[in-house]
Amino acid sequence: MNLKKLASALIPDEGLLSIDKYEHIYPPRDIAPKAEVTRLAPSPTGFIHLGNLYSALADERSAHTTDGIFYLRIEDTDEKRKVDGAVESVIRSLKYFGINFDEGAEIQSPLNIYGPYYQRRRAEIYRAFVKDMIERGYAYPCFCTEDELNAVREKQTGEKKTTGYYGEYAVCRNLSESEIYKNLGEGKPFVIRLKSQGSIENKIIFRDAIKGEVTVTENDQDVVILKSDGIPTYHFAHAIDDHFMRTTLVIRGEEWLSSLPVHLELHKALGFKPPRYAHTSSLMKMDGGTKRKLSKRKDPELSLDYYRKAGYFPKAVVKYLMTLLNSDFEEWSLKNPTADYRDFKFRIEKMSRSGALFDLDKLNDVSRTEISMLSAVECFEFLKGWVTEFGTPADKAHFQNEEYIIKVLELVMGVGGKKRRKDIERAEQGVRLIDYFFDDTFAPEYSYRFDAQTVNTVLGEFLKTYDPADDNSAWFAKVKAIAPTVGFAGEMSDYKKEPEKYKGNVSDIAEILRIAVTGMPNSPDLCTIMRILGKERTAERLKRGMSKIKKKQV
Ligand code: GLU
Repeated sequence: MNLKKLASALIPDEGLLSIDKYEHIYPPRDIAPKAEVTRLAPSPTGFIHLGNLYSALADERSAHTTDGIFYLRIEDTDEKRKVDGAVESVIRSLKYFGINFDEGAEIQSPLNIYGPYYQRRRAEIYRAFVKDMIERGYAYPCFCTEDELNAVREKQTGEKKTTGYYGEYAVCRNLSESEIYKNLGEGKPFVIRLKSQGSIENKIIFRDAIKGEVTVTENDQDVVILKSDGIPTYHFAHAIDDHFMRTTLVIRGEEWLSSLPVHLELHKALGFKPPRYAHTSSLMKMDGGTKRKLSKRKDPELSLDYYRKAGYFPKAVVKYLMTLLNSDFEEWSLKNPTADYRDFKFRIEKMSRSGALFDLDKLNDVSRTEISMLSAVECFEFLKGWVTEFGTPADKAHFQNEEYIIKVLELVMGVGGKKRRKDIERAEQGVRLIDYFFDDTFAPEYSYRFDAQTVNTVLGEFLKTYDPADDNSAWFAKVKAIAPTVGFAGEMSDYKKEPEKYKGNVSDIAEILRIAVTGMPNSPDLCTIMRILGKERTAERLKRGMSKIKKKQV
């Protein structure tokens, strides 16, 4: 058979470059010998999930701990699944978690010389190589229809044989030259298949960077490499793209492990050295005592938007994922609590072979710790980021007042003090925590434990002497001084000795003041709260606290 003529009949494109040109167009990268080139290669479906972030983090860390490159390639061969804005959304979502690409689709970078980074724009490259494979007898046209292929599959299933296009079932593999030209003449649609040289009698021992030594059976399937619309399959595009984008390490989900024999054969047929592969295990969760994969349908926490909307601290999510990626990260992190997680020596080989167990409680724990280490300014920025996107109009207005909120956060979060608040795991909790510092969101419940007369006397007496210039001890002396006017003990020691003699004690007085000013029986240091609110607003609240009681009584 004249294969050159056949190749031109099947791929008639004029002006395709000869394949050896591509080695020069995309030369080996000028990087250190051990530097890893990794990539994220999503389909532009618009759904980016925790598994993608987990994988992207492994890619990004592998590249950046070795002075390598991490790039973004868009696998858009399936036009039906394409969603507008999906690429920007991938970039934005990962950026939110501090993961940035060095090159690739929609990335402005002088490094972008290995593009185009959209597979649909690489059609000429794929076609040039398919043509060459046909010329060399490594690929052939297949005219089988969908119905014919289904019938074969049914027969194979019925006979308990491996399904697929191989051996005796690969009928188009043996078409004569005249049969091929007859089909072409009739305008029958065709795909191009690999002419597999493999046999299932042979085993390949392969070293996966995560799973270690894996023994797989050689491929004998004549898989489709170019579809009837001229677009390559994932398998073929993967081999071409990862070779010419000079990927050194392909990190991808373990669902691709079964395709590995095909990929190894394709690399061989194309004359390429395969990259190293690392197949990651799926993220699992415990569900009613059993482990199962996180599912898009059942688990809202699989979506990355979930973490943004819920207001998780992005670095906490990343640090938590690091604990899943490398089991010794947690210990390192405990030893180096303030260190940047990027200083940790990440290694793909340290990843677990079995599924990583995702535990939301553990993430919450990491988030609480991370948030408790923020400065007031960092905390403000984090909360403001959430408020800008998801806050109420009132939240948005409050967060215009940076100076005021920073003062409030310093107090409420216990920044710099001994009592650092450690119960905040999400932005929204932090935002709600400071609502009472603003008049429009101050919603007191006035749950006093004393009668109206007592409450009003306490509030009235305090109002008379209150001076915002008082320091803590002057302030407290004034609180104590109110005690005798309502029959309370001014000194705790007196109260403890003879509690039956008093209606209450000095801390009950503080509680009454606290309820009036903050609306709650518990709060951070009340003297500081009053100082932050200022004289007028404090006085207003003390008065409002009184009138409420009177109204209740009538
Ligand atoms: N487009 C493939 C996916 O989204 C990429 C797999 C790979 O990383 O090679 O699953």
